[in-house]
Amino acid sequence: MNFLEQDLQELESKSLRRFLRKVESFQSREIILDGKRVLNFCSNNYLGLADDERIKAAAVKAITQYGFGSGSSRLVCGTMTEHLKLEEKIARLKKTKNALVFSSGYMANTGIISALFGKDDVIFSDRLNHASIIDGILLSRAQLKRYAHHDMQALEQGLRDSATFKKRLIVTDTVFSMDGDTARLKEIADLAHRYEALVMVDEAHAFGIFGEHGAGLAEQEGLQNQIDIQMGTLSKAAGCFGAYVAGSKNLCDYLINHARSFIYTTAMPSALAAAACEAVDIIQQDKERRRKVLSNAQHLRRGIKNLGFDTLQSTTPIIPVVVKDSSKALAISKQLLERGIFVQAIRPPTVPMHTARLRVTVMATHTQEDLDFLLHCMKGL
Ligand SMILES: *Cc1c(COP(=O)(O)O)cnc(C)c1O
Repeated sequence: MNFLEQDLQELESKSLRRFLRKVESFQSREIILDGKRVLNFCSNNYLGLADDERIKAAAVKAITQYGFGSGSSRLVCGTMTEHLKLEEKIARLKKTKNALVFSSGYMANTGIISALFGKDDVIFSDRLNHASIIDGILLSRAQLKRYAHHDMQALEQGLRDSATFKKRLIVTDTVFSMDGDTARLKEIADLAHRYEALVMVDEAHAFGIFGEHGAGLAEQEGLQNQIDIQMGTLSKAAGCFGAYVAGSKNLCDYLINHARSFIYTTAMPSALAAAACEAVDIIQQDKERRRKVLSNAQHLRRGIKNLGFDTLQSTTPIIPVVVKDSSKALAISKQLLERGIFVQAIRPPTVPMHTARLRVTVMATHTQEDLDFLLHCMKGL
């Protein structure tokens, strides 16, 4: 097993080795990290719901009522009251006929894409789409056509040349997880219409943030009824765990019958479904939280830009601070940690070569002082 040691040493020498750190507190704007209290600027808990009292209470109540484990897969005897309640709530919010819950976003993407598409099909995917989308495509054995980030001309050219394939799919993150910019959804929907392709969106970082009711970017842009497959996670802004797909009744029934990551896994515990129900309610009702996270992001982004950093095209609570070099990204992350601020360095292969960055994420619960302290500490880095 020499290859293990060799690989790890090679990663180490390129500043690409990764380690786990321990959090010993609630997931909040402040956390206890490896024994030290620090400000948290790297969580996807955008709305600060991960330690919300109402969500905790909903989970505890469900444990009291249903116990913890769900006993089997959804198709055997694992489908419980709270799963169906959650699916109804999500469908209502998304204005779709049905919704189906998966155990995680990773499992949703791999399961949905591999169930729906096969070797006679072609899938167009933005180069910066999430790894779980890529893995779903690989698993499906459909032809993968990557287009450069946001390159609508390349996408159109690809669609034009795709007549020999049986089905065509365009799949995109709506908010890109490492760049914090948004997909050109209207153009994508128009191209799909023109070239008879299906559209799938991954709203992982948009659900709970964008749209009149927090349903995501498709809602914000009024495109919900032009998108065939709306996927998102309950693990980020919703502060819970799990994922959903929203769409037609046939889509959900088909996935129940064919999505292997839905069929061959134990149902999510009721407590998780109950917690997510509560989170969906809070998201719909609490517009102020959504407004706050976006105004916090705006303030911080402006400040970071003024310090001379490149934040790419970010317009969301994800603010990349591109420093290119992996060892430099690590060094800055370490310096900030010494001042009591936790910001992770993101390096290849999570981002393309030579685009290592700090990925700053903002929460609705950060105070003005938190934001200004981060800006103060970034001065001169
Ligand atoms: C986080 C993420 C996922 C995976 O979701 P999990 O619920 O964490 O497994 C999928 N897609 C995108 C774009 C993500 O950012």
